[in-house]
Amino acid sequence: MHTVLLFYKYVTISDPDALVLWVRERAQKFRLLGRCLIAAEGINGTFEGLTENAEAFAAELLQLDLFADMNIKRSRGTGAAFPKLAVRKRDEIVGTRFSKKDADPEHKAAPHIKPEELKALYEEQADFVVVDMRNDYEFASGHFKGSIDPGLRASRDLPEVLPQLDPYKNKKVVTVCTGGVRCEKMAAYLISNGFSDVSQLENGIHAYMEKYPGQDFLGTLYTFDQRVVMDFGGPRQKIGKCYLCQTETERYVNCANYVCHLHFLVCEQCVGTEGRTYCSETCKISDKITT
Ligand SMILES: [Zn+2]
Ligand SMILES: [Zn+2]
Repeated sequence: MHTVLLFYKYVTISDPDALVLWVRERAQKFRLLGRCLIAAEGINGTFEGLTENAEAFAAELLQLDLFADMNIKRSRGTGAAFPKLAVRKRDEIVGTRFSKKDADPEHKAAPHIKPEELKALYEEQADFVVVDMRNDYEFASGHFKGSIDPGLRASRDLPEVLPQLDPYKNKKVVTVCTGGVRCEKMAAYLISNGFSDVSQLENGIHAYMEKYPGQDFLGTLYTFDQRVVMDFGGPRQKIGKCYLCQTETERYVNCANYVCHLHFLVCEQCVGTEGRTYCSETCKISDKITT
């Protein structure tokens, strides 16, 4: 059996290079594949391996003082979730390019709410709104009922789409993302921009789905590995729709026009010939011209 690990922590890392070596060496030792970003601001990683190896790696990671209290999420793997191992040093563990002043997860963090608390908000039909901080193609295959998609193509686009969130400035906002790592910065950014009541879902959609499979979060959870989407079993509603014809589907492709490369849902019928599927006529025509 294989397990996929997902973890992050914002914490000052004084020697990121040394930690890169440490993590890479352990991942190799336990024959894990996947990726891990390490920066002075923290760590963000996902690995897959045989369950006993993944657990042994997790145990070693938690033995480091820095990460002793880190939450490590687990899900069922396929044995082929990642093609290789990549442990790298970066400037940020989530690519936002926001200034540190505007999105400092250590000092301006939005309060965390647990899955139980979000569940209670749904049950009380409280006056709140879930704002999904993932990219719009992730939102397409699954999302919380009634949640807002700001239309991000990448985390760094938040400043650009911020005006669309204006109506929620004085409302109770709960931000969500896959495992929580993006919300730390994105929710801090909302607070910096005058949002009055922002909290973030602790450990993300992953934790909510694990606790309440098939409830409130509709559809499947997009993953950044070769499983593409995942759920935690039990009955659930499918909400993914073909980008081209609106038929129900949970299958992703990339637009064959490499300039566009949009990641989108497409049904069996709309898949192009020779695996060349385009998101639009424009992409199809311009691809013909350039190639
Ligand atoms: Zn279709
Ligand atoms: Zn396209």
